[in-house]
Amino acid sequence: MNYTKRRKLLFLTFFNIFLLAILIACTGLINRCDINASIDRSNGLDNTAQDVVQTENKQTGTAHDSIEEKPEKDTQDNSQADKEAKHVQSPSAQDTGSKYSFLSYYKPENASRYEEYGLENPGLDEKRVVIDVNIGLDYPFYGLIKEIQNYNDVTVLVNKYNKLPDNYEPELKQLEERYCVPGRGAQHLRKEAAEAFIKMHEDAKKEGLNITAYGTYRSIPTQQRIWENAINSGRTQEDVDSLNSRGGHSEHHTGLAVDVVINDYSVLDTKEYQWYKDRAHEYGFIIRYPEGKENITGYKYEPWHLRYVSPEIAKEVYNSGLTYEEYYVTVIEPNMQK
Ligand SMILES: [Zn+2]
Repeated sequence: MNYTKRRKLLFLTFFNIFLLAILIACTGLINRCDINASIDRSNGLDNTAQDVVQTENKQTGTAHDSIEEKPEKDTQDNSQADKEAKHVQSPSAQDTGSKYSFLSYYKPENASRYEEYGLENPGLDEKRVVIDVNIGLDYPFYGLIKEIQNYNDVTVLVNKYNKLPDNYEPELKQLEERYCVPGRGAQHLRKEAAEAFIKMHEDAKKEGLNITAYGTYRSIPTQQRIWENAINSGRTQEDVDSLNSRGGHSEHHTGLAVDVVINDYSVLDTKEYQWYKDRAHEYGFIIRYPEGKENITGYKYEPWHLRYVSPEIAKEVYNSGLTYEEYYVTVIEPNMQK
């Protein structure tokens, strides 16, 4: 081998080593790129998982915030509290009734009923929805019946949703004949109602009026018989229900209700009615079934039917213009639960 050949061989050897070095370097680079890429991908996955966790945390935070904010709402004005309730809640964490929870007479157990009734009646505001549902008006009359617990209270609410226990019998006092419409038999009221009625009768008498008892206490079996006879007379059930209670659902069972003078619409033409319509509350009586409120009370206007609730409450009901159902669920019931 001559000198020139040796130089060529040496050059080729170094060149090959150089190429090998480049090859190794490139392979290393590619591997590094792969590793980085896989790290990036795994980071990407991690980020995605993190997003989910963060989203969950956000949701937990939302639910938590809304729980924490509840007590503060009582100190804020209603519209502001309502706006916050709407804003804070995500649909998934929504307490279905909380839109209504700013109202003092909101009942958590009615939450889903408020929601449903509100959706069915989009024209009603939150107050109306809660009042109606608390009365039971999201169900038809006699569609949801509760047995009354506070049957001895003079404020007791008896209606088509609230039934007295079958064995309920109040303590009664017989009215003297001079306080009663002749020919109607013996009349009985509870002591508080009897005393108030006598006082009202005597005061009206001083003005030449004669407010007498036409109908008072009726037992549950008597009332049921009246209702069944009315049905058997050929009247429709709807018509009978609009004027006659079913057994257990009449205020006349409590001894706190009295039909005065005569129980038909001719009572409107009497001087007695003109006097008691704006005076009865002073003695503790309300006209229990006012005109135009049949959809709430379940009864047509009954200007003759007075109900004793105490002078204090009768004045409030009279001045409020509310039906007793509305007054009861917004004022009496919330105070009972405290
Ligand atoms: Zn009556």
